[in-house]
Amino acid sequence: MASFFHTSFHHLTPSERARITSPVLWLMLVLVSGLFLIGLSPWVPVEERPVYLGGSLLFALYSWVLLRIFFPYAERFIWMRWVILVGHAAFVPFLPLLFPDTGLLFDVLMSSITIILITILFGKKAAYLFLTINTLPRIFVYQASSLLFQHSFLVFVIPVFSLVLTETVSGVGTLLNRKISYLEAINHVARKVGSTIEPQEVINLLSVAIRDTLDADTYYIGVQRDGGLYLEVLYDDGKFYPPEELHPENSLTALVMKQRRSLLIGNIPGELPSLGLTPSTIGAEKMSLSWMGTPMEAGGHPLGIVAVASYRLNAFRPDDLELLESIAQQAALALDNAYHHAEVEEQSHRDSLTGVYNHGYFLLALEEQAEQMQSGNRSLALIMLDIDFFKAYNDTYGHLVGDQVLVRFSDIIRRHIKATDLVGRWGGEEFAISLPGANGEQAYRVAQRISATLRGLQLQDRDGNAIPPPTVSQGIALFPYEADDIYALVDLADQRLYLAKNRGRDQITPSLSHWKHVITE
Ligand code: GH3
Ligand code: MG
Ligand code: MG
Repeated sequence: MASFFHTSFHHLTPSERARITSPVLWLMLVLVSGLFLIGLSPWVPVEERPVYLGGSLLFALYSWVLLRIFFPYAERFIWMRWVILVGHAAFVPFLPLLFPDTGLLFDVLMSSITIILITILFGKKAAYLFLTINTLPRIFVYQASSLLFQHSFLVFVIPVFSLVLTETVSGVGTLLNRKISYLEAINHVARKVGSTIEPQEVINLLSVAIRDTLDADTYYIGVQRDGGLYLEVLYDDGKFYPPEELHPENSLTALVMKQRRSLLIGNIPGELPSLGLTPSTIGAEKMSLSWMGTPMEAGGHPLGIVAVASYRLNAFRPDDLELLESIAQQAALALDNAYHHAEVEEQSHRDSLTGVYNHGYFLLALEEQAEQMQSGNRSLALIMLDIDFFKAYNDTYGHLVGDQVLVRFSDIIRRHIKATDLVGRWGGEEFAISLPGANGEQAYRVAQRISATLRGLQLQDRDGNAIPPPTVSQGIALFPYEADDIYALVDLADQRLYLAKNRGRDQITPSLSHWKHVITE
């Protein structure tokens, strides 16, 4: 029942609605007073005076009851709306029978005034019902009275007039509604994305905002990464598609990315050729008929694109594009912020000289990798590396050359490990490598290659003269076969590194033959 009374002014509070209806109330007041004054004027025959005066008092009373009691009551009680709707609509057309002249005037004015109130307060459906109930008795009344018969045209004029009023008022309300819900959506997105630092969450929020606010058959969010454009979200024809890389040559997406401005296309088949583009499909193999897209940018840098499409022609209006631009812009700023945050966080995990993980983060990551390997019943090898006589090396060639060696050494390590392996600077000239999934023999080979590459490193001193590279000692331990927690593992690798030092440096402990005997199956 309540949905029958859906008004496009529902965003307003009762008192705000009362405020916009107040000119109507003033009009009623003026009419009532006017009638009263006519009743007092000398031109009105004495015997007719009671009709005017009584009529005006009656209308004043009626208006007062309607506005002070009925309408406020109707805010809370649905049944009261029916009372007003049916009672008022059916009652007013009979007034001309009671007061032929003034009744006529009042029928015209009251019916059209009330329909404004009903449209604002109870909605358009209620206004149409009112119009119907109001018109039917008028047909009967105006035909029945010979006096009123000459005014029969009012039977048509009043409903048409009322119809125009209803449409105008509810049109304003609908527009207002749309603007409000768009602003709400923008505000909602801004608040939500402003408080998140996860790029994926920003994308998800943007996706939800588009779904909730725009009537689109298709939407997609493309994010620029590593020189490519990746579709993080693709929704089409009722379902989501998995993320993929997008190759947007000759498409609307490419045009938006290239021109770095929004585009609104109401008729794709009609407009695409003039833009020099060829039609293409995305998601479901179904051609869209209208499309709009906007670039996501922050600080002048392109971050990606947000686009929506429809299988209908002219599905989007300029204010839809404005909405899309606003939420995309909010999301772009949040995304940029999230990227920066991720970058800063990543930096905080790294050693500033060599760029490899720092001690603290390496331990955390090692623990995580060890857990993963354990649950998958796989081994993890740890190599501890320490540059030999590095103090003396520094003393001989200077600290700056020493720093350079550390940077070059960490580059060598990175070159010999896989993307899933980790390298950390344990401290000073000491490094650690975690090799998840590797056995002792594989770790030994990696250690060997690092030593060999280091041996061939071309270095120069401050004066540009070639200098020999330092050597490195390494200790290896295998998780979980030799140590079943990472601290014991580190300890064992460290002991073996110490052993390598004691045995004369520039070597790997334990030797390859040891690993041939460690059974890992
Ligand atoms: P060992 O073979 O026993 O490992 O001898 P070592 O001299 O390498 O060992 P020690 O622990 O006595 O000295 C480590 C040296 O590493 C001390 C320091 O001069 C050098 N070192 C540590 N951190 C840095 C750094 O960031 N830059 C440079 N240039 N040198 C560093
Ligand atoms: Mg050393
Ligand atoms: Mg050391």
